[in-house]
Amino acid sequence: MSRTRINTNPNRQGYFGSYGGMYVPETLMTPLLDLAKAYDQVRKDPSFRNELNSYLSDFVGRPTPLYFAERMTRELGCAAVYLKREDLCHTGAHKINNSLGQALLARRMGKKRVIAETGAGQHGVATATVAAMFGMECVIYMGALDMERQALNVFRMRSLGAEVVPVTAGQKTLKEAISEAMRDWVTNVRTTHYILGSALGSHPYPRMVRDFQSIIGKEARRQMLKEAGRLPSVLLACVGGGSNSIGLFHPFINDADVRMIGVEAGGLGIRNGQHAARFAGGKVGILQGTKTFVLQDAAGQIRLTHSVSAGLDYAAIGPEHSLLRDLGRVEYVHVNDREAVHAFDTLGQWEGLLPALETAHAVAYMIKLAGKWSKDDVLLLNLSGRGDKDVQQVAAWKEQQRA
Ligand SMILES: *Cc1c(COP(=O)(O)O)cnc(C)c1O
Repeated sequence: MSRTRINTNPNRQGYFGSYGGMYVPETLMTPLLDLAKAYDQVRKDPSFRNELNSYLSDFVGRPTPLYFAERMTRELGCAAVYLKREDLCHTGAHKINNSLGQALLARRMGKKRVIAETGAGQHGVATATVAAMFGMECVIYMGALDMERQALNVFRMRSLGAEVVPVTAGQKTLKEAISEAMRDWVTNVRTTHYILGSALGSHPYPRMVRDFQSIIGKEARRQMLKEAGRLPSVLLACVGGGSNSIGLFHPFINDADVRMIGVEAGGLGIRNGQHAARFAGGKVGILQGTKTFVLQDAAGQIRLTHSVSAGLDYAAIGPEHSLLRDLGRVEYVHVNDREAVHAFDTLGQWEGLLPALETAHAVAYMIKLAGKWSKDDVLLLNLSGRGDKDVQQVAAWKEQQRA
């Protein structure tokens, strides 16, 4: 096993290479620096780690299994396909690994109120869930359009006792919800912690969220060595903001023989501009606190994005991914809506597992290369979430195709 040495920790200003940083209004600098300091303390504190691990095991259901997908292995013509079952986490996706970590940190900081943004609603549900468990007040900001599209998750959050606030500005989706949550935080920072849902935004979030999600890769690495007696040759994960992918990749970063592939949303196509593939159509810019690849027009205005999966539909990508892309350590590809919906059905029919539409993008890329993988390839895919939340969306999509 050969090793590389990549410095994946941001510097004191929060830069991964030239990406990241703290591009925020002055009023947010103090709360963010306080948060960075508090996180630095708990990170090294064994009592925090013990407490977190105990909730991860008894409340979330970790470790999640590593599943050998026998039929898929045969269909793809490689040596083995393994699926890391984050879909079996409580609430149905990896998001809760991060919500739980940040809620515990908030409690240590003496904050009794948590707020969050949500797009498809998965991060909102995960946050409302841990807030209920810890007895914290919880407010979720959600675009008015997303609330219509994801009515089931709005119902879940409200049943869990959270207040869900519709955001009616702009495109009425995730980007506007993040802006609203930041406004709330500025006003209520003494009592409130903002639980950001992906490896995005200003320092210290990209690093903190990555660390909380790295449990995925840590477990997977250990499970592979135990169950297969070797490391995988290829890792695959879908990339929205980039938290489930960086969580899987991070513990393997210095294993030089492990290839890593991140799959973005190609939407309706790169050429017509209706997609969320930041590395295919974006350039370096600044969005919501961080410098990274952003989909923007010639004047630097943020482009409208499109994906069949709400969780991948965002104009920026986490800054650490921009560095890993420049270094050539991770390959970034994209698949379109049609391929993703096809993969949703295919994984269901091959393995009895309906993936989230986000996850289906990574599955689609794996299927696209069927017959082209080497006979020796051992693939490990992060099954970031289950697809129950998406059945209506998929049904509507199929209906539209027939029309
Ligand atoms: C939110 C979500 C994603 C995308 O977010 P990342 O931060 O890129 O992981 C992917 N899969 C599922 C199931 C999600 O809920």
